[in-house]
Amino acid sequence: MSDGGERVGKSDDTVGKVYLVGSGPGDPDLLTVKAKRLLEEADVVLHDKLPGPEILGTIPEAKREDVGKRAGGEWTPQEYTNARMVELAREGETVVRLKGGDPTVFGRGGEEMVHLAEEGVPFELVPGITSAVAGPAVAGIPVTHRDHTSSVSFVTGHEDPTKEESAVDWAALADTGGTIVVLMGVGKLPDYTAALREAGMAPETPVALIERATWPDQRVATGTLETIVAVRDSEGIEPPAITVIGDVAGQRERVLEFLEGE
Ligand code: SAH
Repeated sequence: MSDGGERVGKSDDTVGKVYLVGSGPGDPDLLTVKAKRLLEEADVVLHDKLPGPEILGTIPEAKREDVGKRAGGEWTPQEYTNARMVELAREGETVVRLKGGDPTVFGRGGEEMVHLAEEGVPFELVPGITSAVAGPAVAGIPVTHRDHTSSVSFVTGHEDPTKEESAVDWAALADTGGTIVVLMGVGKLPDYTAALREAGMAPETPVALIERATWPDQRVATGTLETIVAVRDSEGIEPPAITVIGDVAGQRERVLEFLEGE
């Protein structure tokens, strides 16, 4: 044991394993069969709030550890989560690090895999259904469509588009003519919709916001590149939500009456 033997592991020479597991967007029926089995088998589940209330509600309190936002509103530092995964595994525990959607889509799954590899801790990545595709889909919006778009970009809206070296090139995205799916994009919606319009994207381009996709209180709000900020404000849309920008967002109207919960 690397911690000087103060903690008693299951066995001195047994290192546990860490499973980096995607929960899907939130509906427990959209967990993979493997994720469901691992949640049952795990000794400890490290999670944040993104898997949603229904999935978290199925995990016994005694084996849950919240490594998301803490009571004071501060985020648990990534270093803590990294260290905790290693510590538990070295105690011989089977650990599920549960992430919303897919662990590798804006989920730090890449960082956590490298950390575990460097620490010599056995791990396995278990993909999940990303909200970036499932969110639009359950709102009747296919992220690609033969008649509308043959490409889709997944981008973070967290960046400040006015900052000199924004990691997201909104003008280039506008030029692709493809669907743009923005994660973490509620707060900066005014900035990037303006950036896209400045780059020449038509103001009447359909835009949809899907809030808490597949959670019991899912909501969808629609508008255009020009109106969506006002829609967000009047509807009070809050994170977590997906923004879909592109002609495919207009598809929703054509299937509306058959959508779950509409
Ligand atoms: N790994 C996750 C994304 C993590 S980034 C995935 O693959 O889905 C966090 C962002 O994901 C949120 O800000 C929001 O934009 C999006 N998100 C995750 N779950 C969501 C859900 N159920 N409904 C809407 N947006 C969601």
